[in-house]
Amino acid sequence: QEKEDLEPTREITLGIDHEFRFEVEFNTKVSVKLQKGTAEIFGTELAVGVTYTFSGRKAAVYTWHGCTLEVKGQFLVEYTANETPMTSYLNMHLALEQIRQNAKQNQDLGPRVLVIGPHDVGKTSLCKILVSYSLRQGGSPIYVSLDTTEGSITMPGTVTATCISNIIDVEEGFGSSATTAASMGSSTMPLAYYYGFESPAENVKLYKLVSSQLSEAIRSRMAVDEECRNSGFIIDTAGLIDHVGYDIIQHIIRDFNVNVLIVLGHERLYSDMNRIYGSNQKVSVVKLSKSGGVVERDRQFKIRLQRTKIHEYFYGTPKCELSPYSMLVNHDDIKIWRVGDVIAPSSALPLGMDSSSNETQLVKVDNYDMCLHSILAIVNIDQTEPENRILENNVAGFIYVSDVDEEKRKVTILSPSPGRLPKKHLLMGSFKWMET
Ligand code: ADP
Repeated sequence: QEKEDLEPTREITLGIDHEFRFEVEFNTKVSVKLQKGTAEIFGTELAVGVTYTFSGRKAAVYTWHGCTLEVKGQFLVEYTANETPMTSYLNMHLALEQIRQNAKQNQDLGPRVLVIGPHDVGKTSLCKILVSYSLRQGGSPIYVSLDTTEGSITMPGTVTATCISNIIDVEEGFGSSATTAASMGSSTMPLAYYYGFESPAENVKLYKLVSSQLSEAIRSRMAVDEECRNSGFIIDTAGLIDHVGYDIIQHIIRDFNVNVLIVLGHERLYSDMNRIYGSNQKVSVVKLSKSGGVVERDRQFKIRLQRTKIHEYFYGTPKCELSPYSMLVNHDDIKIWRVGDVIAPSSALPLGMDSSSNETQLVKVDNYDMCLHSILAIVNIDQTEPENRILENNVAGFIYVSDVDEEKRKVTILSPSPGRLPKKHLLMGSFKWMET
C-alpha cells in the first residue's frame, strides 16, 4: 500500500478522438484518474476526479473531445493512438437507436444484434460500447453472452443474459462475478444456463440446447418488459469461424430472431454471411473493422482470466469482498450430473458415426472422486420436476467441491452463501479449479 502511495503520478493529455491504450499484469495495480475533459472506457464515462484501479487488464481510455489523465503505477504496455474505429462504432449505435425509435412508435421489438468474428478482435469490447451507449441514451438493453470461454458475466462455461439498466462498472467491466455470487438465488442474479465446457465445439448439441433455452427466457422477458423490448439485445459470441461455427451462427440467428449481424474484423466471414443472408430481408449484415488496440490474449492469459473469474465468484473483488462458506454435505442429499457419454467432438468420431444422440444425455456421477475440485452449477429445478428436465433449467448459483470422502459419503463444498443448498441437483462440466 505504502509503496504504491510513493509512486509518482504522470499526466497524459489526449487530443480529440484519441485513446490511451494500456496493459497491466495480474499481480500489479495501476490507477487512472480523469482530471479534465471527458473520457470513456469501452463506452462507459469516467467521472472527473475519481481514481480507477486496474489489475490484469488490457483496455483503452478514449476521448471524443480531449482530456487530461493522471496515471500511476507500472504498466506493461502503454501508448496513445489516434486511429480508432470509434466513429464507425458510434454510427452503428446511431443506426440501432433508429431501430429502437421505430420499435417504440410501432410497439415492435428493438434490435436483436449478433456480433461475430474470430477470437480477439474486440467483440466483447464492441458489445460493451454498444450497450453503454444505449444505456447513456436512456435505454435498458440486454447483454447476452454466448461466449463460454470467458464468463464475462459469471462463471466460465455459462451462457447468460443481463438486463443492463445501471451504469457499467469501469473497473470490472460487466458486473463482476462477485456481485452475481452475492446475489445468488435472488432476482438480480443474471439469467444463466450451464453449458460446462469452454468451447462451443466441444458439445455442439448441448451448446445449442442451452442457448435455445436462454433465447426462450429472453423472449418471455421481453414480452412483459417494455423497456427491454424496445432496447433489444446484443449478443456476444466466442470466435466462431469454422464450419461448426457457421452452423452455430445460423442456429443463433434463427433462435434469437437476430436482425442485425455485425461481422468484426474478418473479410471472409463477412463475405460468407453476406452470401447466406444478403438476400434475406430480415437480417442486415454489417461489417466493422477491428481496433488496432485489440490485444491478442494467449492461452495462459485466458486460463488466468478464467481462474480469476472463479476466484472472484467465491471471494469477491477488492471492491466487494466476499467470505465463502465451507460446508459438509451428505452424499445422499445431493445428485450430481454430467452431460454426454462421448465428450469427444463429432469431428473426432469415425465417419458416419453419430455422437449427437448421447451428447445431451444426462449421466449421474456416482464416483465422487471425479468431482473433486470441480465447479458445480446448482440447477434451478424443484424436486417434483422430472430429472430429464435438468438441462432446460437455469442456474441458481455455483459451488466448488474442495474435498470428497467416499467412505463417509460426504463432500466438502465452498459456497458464496451460508445454509443448505437451495436445490438438490448439481451439474458438472469440465471446469476444475484449485484454491491458491
Ligand atoms: P474478443 O471478444 O473478440 O475476444 P475483446 O473485446 O475481449 O475481444 O478484446 C481482446 C482484448 O483486447 C481485451 O483484453 C480487451 O480489453 C482489449 N482491447 C480491446 N480494444 C482495445 C483497445 N482499443 N485498446 C486496448 N485494448 C483493447
